[in-house]
Amino acid sequence: MSMFNRLLVTGLPVVPKPLVGKVASRYVAGETLADAVRVVRNLNQQGAMATIDVLGEEVSEREKALAAVEEYLQVFDTIAAEGLDSNVSIKPTLLGLKIDESFCRDNIERIVAKAKEHGNFVRIDMEDNTTTDATLRIFHELYARYGNVGPVLQAYMRRTLSDIAALPEGSTVRLCKGIYVEPRTIAWKGFETVRANYVRALEKLIERGIYTGIATHDEYLTCRAVGLIDKHGLKREQYEFQMLLGVDEELRRILIAGGHRLRVYVPYGRDWYPYSMRRLRENPEVARHVLKAMLSGR
Ligand SMILES: Cc1cc2nc3c(=O)[nH]c(=O)nc-3n(C[C@H](O)[C@H](O)[C@H](O)COP(=O)(O)OP(=O)(O)OC[C@H]3O[C@@H](n4cnc5c(N)ncnc54)[C@H](O)[C@@H]3O)c2cc1C
Repeated sequence: MSMFNRLLVTGLPVVPKPLVGKVASRYVAGETLADAVRVVRNLNQQGAMATIDVLGEEVSEREKALAAVEEYLQVFDTIAAEGLDSNVSIKPTLLGLKIDESFCRDNIERIVAKAKEHGNFVRIDMEDNTTTDATLRIFHELYARYGNVGPVLQAYMRRTLSDIAALPEGSTVRLCKGIYVEPRTIAWKGFETVRANYVRALEKLIERGIYTGIATHDEYLTCRAVGLIDKHGLKREQYEFQMLLGVDEELRRILIAGGHRLRVYVPYGRDWYPYSMRRLRENPEVARHVLKAMLSGR
């Protein structure tokens, strides 16, 4: 990261919240479930599937985790009632992982059971390394009992290849680079190194016959993925691409036009600010827009 970008990113916390909201609103459907429904319906009309995420991370009070469970139950009822092509993504720390693992597992189980009632699916997002073991334990246990749940694996983690080897037959995974800042002792750090491990991990997943959500906006990785899909003769139903709402809509259209299945991650909720800050920190290009908007008084 250049010195200028570094300065931009460290300066972000002092940027006024309404300004961050204005620039970052493209990454978030809105504050309510009705906003998410509107965005997902639009995506479905464009030929994309969706995964709905209720915004929020790490709660320390049980009531908040239980409120998030209720919200997710409502999301599944709404997806069914509105006839949307969408599953959901959940964050274990929002569902109480840092309070107590078994409390969190019970909360996730209620969501997975609800999804099962509707013939739908739950993707468990992967958070920082302090949560990886517990998240995978919860996944393995619930997968064995319900089947309609899958984890996310991060290509920057050195352990990912062995996590792939341990995935149960018939399970599905989302493969992403990883968004948290992890120590070098456990994570690959170089940009090209992470790309290389992503390709390696994807090929392993394909060889194992695991349905993979190829989550990236990196054109190089997209191109490598298309090459692997071709090389292994995968059919359209055997994988999907995944992208975040508001990021590189052109690439999204290119992939859909190329005949690939594509799912868009659609976050909504009142907790949009921390999510937006993370997106902004991750991509200094977006931080530049904030700066421009500040300087031009918009
Ligand atoms: C559907 C989905 C789900 C994800 N779930 C998780 C998860 O559970 N756990 C986790 O750790 N990470 C998750 N991530 C984030 C992921 O790990 C990466 O941090 C993120 O996708 C950026 O990596 P990239 O592969 O797109 O490549 P990059 O090289 O970072 O990006 C490629 C290009 O895409 C554009 N771009 C990328 N990100 C953004 C952005 N935020 N805003 C604007 N433009 C951008 C830029 O133009 C950039 O040059 C998810 C990503 C996606 C797409």
